[in-house]
Amino acid sequence: MSKVCLISLGCAKNLIDSEQMLSLLDDAGYELTDDPEEADAAIVNTCAFIESAKSEAIENILAMGGLKKTGKLQKLIVAGCLAQRYKDELLREMPEIDALLGTGSVSEIVNVLKEARPEKKPQYYGDINAPLDEAGRVVSTGPGWAYIKIAEGCSNNCAYCVIPSIRGKYRSRPMENILSEAVALAGTGVRELIVVAQDPTMYGVDLYRKRRLAELTRELAKIDGIEWIRLHYLYPDAVDDELIDTIANEPKVLKYLDIPIQHVNNGILKLMRRRGTGDGIRALLPKLRERIPGVVLRTSLITGLPGEGEAEFEELCSFLREARIERAGVFPFSPEEGTPAFDMPHVDTDEAVRRAELIQEIQAGIMEDFNASRVGATVRVLCEGFDEEVGLYMGRSFAESPDVDGYIYFGSPDECVPGEFYDVIIRGDLDGDLAGEVVAEHA
Ligand code: SF4
Repeated sequence: MSKVCLISLGCAKNLIDSEQMLSLLDDAGYELTDDPEEADAAIVNTCAFIESAKSEAIENILAMGGLKKTGKLQKLIVAGCLAQRYKDELLREMPEIDALLGTGSVSEIVNVLKEARPEKKPQYYGDINAPLDEAGRVVSTGPGWAYIKIAEGCSNNCAYCVIPSIRGKYRSRPMENILSEAVALAGTGVRELIVVAQDPTMYGVDLYRKRRLAELTRELAKIDGIEWIRLHYLYPDAVDDELIDTIANEPKVLKYLDIPIQHVNNGILKLMRRRGTGDGIRALLPKLRERIPGVVLRTSLITGLPGEGEAEFEELCSFLREARIERAGVFPFSPEEGTPAFDMPHVDTDEAVRRAELIQEIQAGIMEDFNASRVGATVRVLCEGFDEEVGLYMGRSFAESPDVDGYIYFGSPDECVPGEFYDVIIRGDLDGDLAGEVVAEHA
């Protein structure tokens, strides 16, 4: 048993777990491959946040099960959120699975792999509320960028969300561990750090009895080699003056903020046990635009939540037309067993999907205007490589976060190096992305 393929699904937090597993497997002498057809063992590190994520996980498990019948593959391990949430059902319904690994047992991947076999089916379920294991990573993103997880779990308990039951209560990593990991990442050529957690604004509350995200951000900015720090998933009611000042004044912190608001109707937010109000969100956005000139905002929204009738949905649409948030991800409400929202009355899935599509239309217009406003500007771009199909280099500026915001494609008279910065003048739109050309390698 030597070659292992790990398929990582879901969010950036799960990807970091996958990267830690890869590092442990590498240390134990396993050969890693991206091709499941070549592998002796496959690990599917799953997501189970909403219905579509569960379906994707099951499809991947079934595909690996197929390979066990027809190919070289001998062992199939299911890890992550689906394994944590549905262990009994998975073992009962999917006989192709040889072992399960819960979210509290990432560090046991080598043991579970050794023990996995159909007649034994080991299950590792460590304490999901235990302090985080500090482990090495095989960074799979980049070139030039990596996620950094500052905390695990969530204690907010929004009424629609299963995360606290899958990933435990909020646990911050000690600041010194985060900083030394960031120094190590910088040493491998990482220039952009993307700070993630379920709720980064709560960083420090459990360990230090106070919020320390702003301070952590300033410390990260002192690290040589790190040039961009991108903050994701900021809970709106906790974006306070200290954090805004840090973002505004620290040149390395990107003027790009991902603030998931989910909705703006006061009644819905209260019913969903979200802290803060729609009025608070309405006040926050202009304040951010005033204090952080040129800031680009991203958010996520849920349509069809319990309490959302036509009037509440229209309130959300009007807000979006006015607020002109540059980027948004929208999801139809997915009622999840075990959450308070599961039993609350709500519109059916078709209607929630229809509303999500209407919001996508509103946002598409805002996005187009935003893209048009950038034509002629020269922006600093982190090169990610050359796209053979398009015939241009591809990269991202401060306004594009990986995986969610698309690329800036650009030509260059000279060869560009992935992981390096270039100044690119934007010339126009390219099927929803942007296209331009290099003016100079960024000094
Ligand atoms: S903040 Fe709310 S929605 Fe986000 S992970 Fe925590 S409980 Fe879930």
